[in-house]
Amino acid sequence: MKELMKSFEKYTKTECGACGRFLELQKTEVTYLGSVFTLELPACPSCGTVFVPEELATGKMLEVEKILEDK
Ligand SMILES: [Zn+2]
Repeated sequence: MKELMKSFEKYTKTECGACGRFLELQKTEVTYLGSVFTLELPACPSCGTVFVPEELATGKMLEVEKILEDK
């Protein structure tokens, strides 16, 4: 498993749609392009919903793609 030092801190200013609480960064395992990474993803401290950042959802994480190319 790879540790990807990608911070989604900007999303901690986002509120959970269900609870209205600000999201907190939480280490989460993510499968991306066939590999498993540990990422700090913003999650709701109240209901545990993990927010998938736009960069991940749209596959625009250049850092991830770079790591995959390097292996
Ligand atoms: Zn919530």
